[in-house]
Amino acid sequence: MRLLIRLLGLLFVIYAALSLVRGLLGVIAPKQSIRSGSSGRLVKDPVCGTYIPEDTVFRAGDHFFCSQECQRKFLNG
Ligand SMILES: [Zn+2]
Repeated sequence: MRLLIRLLGLLFVIYAALSLVRGLLGVIAPKQSIRSGSSGRLVKDPVCGTYIPEDTVFRAGDHFFCSQECQRKFLNG
């Protein structure tokens, strides 16, 4: 029983470390992709969170979407 608790603690530590690394990468990665985009600005899709070049997006007013499906989801709530 004590071994099981220790194992669960170890798993929690690994999980925490992984999410920390993933969080740090998430902070760094979008900045790099915005800087490397040569064809202008990158905009964020509010539905799925994807960054897409401004000239290839589907628009709805001031909002930008990666696909017609995301656009439809946003408009239909
Ligand atoms: Zn999308």
